[in-house]
This record gives sequence, structure tokens and C-alpha cells, in this order.
Amino acid sequence: MSSEKFREWAKKEISKTGPLHLSDAISAALTHPDFGYYHSEEIIGSKGDFITAPEVSQMFGELVGAFLAYIWEQSGRPANSLLCEFGPGRGTLSADINSALAQISPQFSGSPLHLIETSNSLREIQKTTLKRQTVCWHNDFKKIPNQPLFAVANEFFDALGVNQAIFDGTDWRHRLLDFHTQFELVRGPILSNAELEAFNAISLKNQNSKNQENGTIIEYSPKTAQISAEIALHIKQFGGAFLIIDYGKSNQIGDTIQAVSNHKPVEPWSNAGNADISHWVDFDCIKRSSENAGARFIGPVSQSQFFTQIGIKQRAEMLANSQNPEINRALFAAVDRLISPAHMGNLFQVGLIIPAGEGLPPGFQAE
Ligand code: SAH
Repeated sequence: MSSEKFREWAKKEISKTGPLHLSDAISAALTHPDFGYYHSEEIIGSKGDFITAPEVSQMFGELVGAFLAYIWEQSGRPANSLLCEFGPGRGTLSADINSALAQISPQFSGSPLHLIETSNSLREIQKTTLKRQTVCWHNDFKKIPNQPLFAVANEFFDALGVNQAIFDGTDWRHRLLDFHTQFELVRGPILSNAELEAFNAISLKNQNSKNQENGTIIEYSPKTAQISAEIALHIKQFGGAFLIIDYGKSNQIGDTIQAVSNHKPVEPWSNAGNADISHWVDFDCIKRSSENAGARFIGPVSQSQFFTQIGIKQRAEMLANSQNPEINRALFAAVDRLISPAHMGNLFQVGLIIPAGEGLPPGFQAE
């Protein structure tokens, strides 16, 4: 069992270096070659542990494709553009983006596709889903060619792990994972000034709000900050756009770590290796990292606003078939699942990194 292997790994690490930073423990639980959750088969989809938006309906990817085509046109149709997806899962989103591009912008649809994916078993599934495209896989962003990049990430940042700090009445302390007879979350050393800055804890202090109560938890995902800064710098230098969709919020407050197995919430640490561990993405952190790198960040707006503005209802009506009420019911149920506030509509947020400039693209315009 992967959870036992995770426990043995964690106990050994803790005995060497002391209690673990939560982002390191989460990264190992998800991506470690011996027991990482993302290396197992059948994790995404109705047979797996969770269902993502691209798996709900082809409309999701088609509309993202139409949006990227619009941004590509607005950028002056750069000839040597690249397409890129971070954390492509089963490859469904990239496949649906490509089928939309083939209709809307055939020149753009021929662009090479770069996938950032650490899991070998998911790469195998992606190979099958995307067999008609030229695909290049990477473990990280470092080797992406210096060319305009049109990229998307759905439920990628939530899988990058997050660190936590807890307020003890006077200071912020690291919140760490320890093990005695079972896993425990413990209070560690006081945050340094640089760490306080990374957690954006200084801005909280200035607000002087009741968020400073003893026991308040705040979060910071080092990989989220690092990856968004790398992509923002790339987009500033070479052009392009990066569309980010994830469940999230615009501040660092609260313990948002959660785990899911077989479509149900479970306790994260005793199930690590067998469950999907994620956290709510802090869009404010992505915005700060992107702007510090010299790019522009737009949003976040709700998934509901984004897909309504770019025409999900019109797309459903186009696909609807008056001869087949079953198909129509499924289409409008999918629209509801993606945009209604009772389902994914408000929980999920959409943000965009583009080069400096003015104006707001469709999806992000004031309501
Ligand atoms: N975007 C897909 C899948 C989301 S699951 C969908 O919407 O269906 C998260 C994806 O990110 C998986 O493909 C996983 O293997 C990948 N992933 C997780 N951590 C990663 C990391 N550190 N580097 C690269 N890929 C990662």
C-alpha cells in the first residue's frame, strides 16, 4: 500500500531532519516515484477518485481553445507559437482545445504541444488521447523553447503542495508534519523576515484584523510562486498567455489542505499516497509573482463568469440536437455543473497572465 510506504518515508525523513514542511510531504505523497499518488492508474474520471471539468464536457476544452485562439489573434498571430498544458491528466483538455483550434485557427492548431507532466502512467494515457498531435513532454518548465507560449492549467496549481504557518498570539510559526504513534501537525520555529514576506504575513499585520488571533493558519505554496514567476517572465520576454483555472481564493488565510479518495473526503496524512491531496490556490500569490516578474495578471473571475461570457450556453445550444432529448439533457446538465454556483461555478476561479498592456479580453470583462 502506498500509504504505508509514505509513512515509512516520512518517518525516515523526520528522524534525519525533524518535522517536515507540509509542501515537501505533499509533493512526496503525490509525485514520489515509489509511492506517489499520481503514478497510480485510474485516478481521474468516474472510475477514479475525482472528476475534473474537462472530463465533465468537451465544451470546457473547446471554449478554452476558442479563448486561446482569440488571444493568439490579438497578439498578431505569432508564427512560431507553442501550445502548452501544465498537469494534463488524461489529456482531454488539450485534445478538446486542439479540435476547437482546427476549426477556428488552423494555423495555430498546428503548433507544437508541450506538456508538463511528472507521472509516467498519466503520460501513457496522454499519448493515446493525443496520438494525432506532435507532443513533447517535460518534468518542469525549464526546457520550454524561447518562443511565444499559449498555455493552460486546470487543477494543476492545487497539486503543487502548500506550507502552513500558525499564529501563537505573538509570532507566526511554521506548521509541520511530525510522527509519534501517528501523524501530528506541530508548531515549529518562528518565521524569518524573508518567510514572513513570502507568506505575505506582513500585509496581514498591517490590516490589524482578527485574522491575528491565536491559532490562525496561513498558507504559502513555494512552487506556485516559483512556477508562476517563471512563466510570467517567459511571457514578458517572448509573448503569449497563460490561462489558470483552479479552485481558489485571493488571500492566504485558512487551512485549505484536503484529500479525496474514491470521490469522498478523507484524512490527508494517514491516506497519503492513496488519496489526492490538494489545497486552495491563492490567486493573489500568483498575481504578485507574475507582476514582480514584469507581466500583467488579470482576474481572478469566477469560472461561472468566464464561461458564461465566452459563450458556454450558446455552445450548448449549437451542440443540442432536437432529435435526441437525452443528449440535450446531458449537455445542459454539464453546463449547470460547470457554471452554477451550487456546483463548480463559484468555487473555481480563472486568472490570466499576459504581457503588459491595456483592455480586458472576453471572460474577464466587468459584469
Ligand atoms: N488538468 C487535468 C488533471 C489535473 S490532476 C484535468 O483537469 O483533468 C493534476 C495533474 O498535474 C496530473 O496530470 C499530475 O500528474 C500533474 N502534476 C502534479 N504535480 C505535478 C508537478 N509537480 N509537476 C508536473 N505535473 C504535476
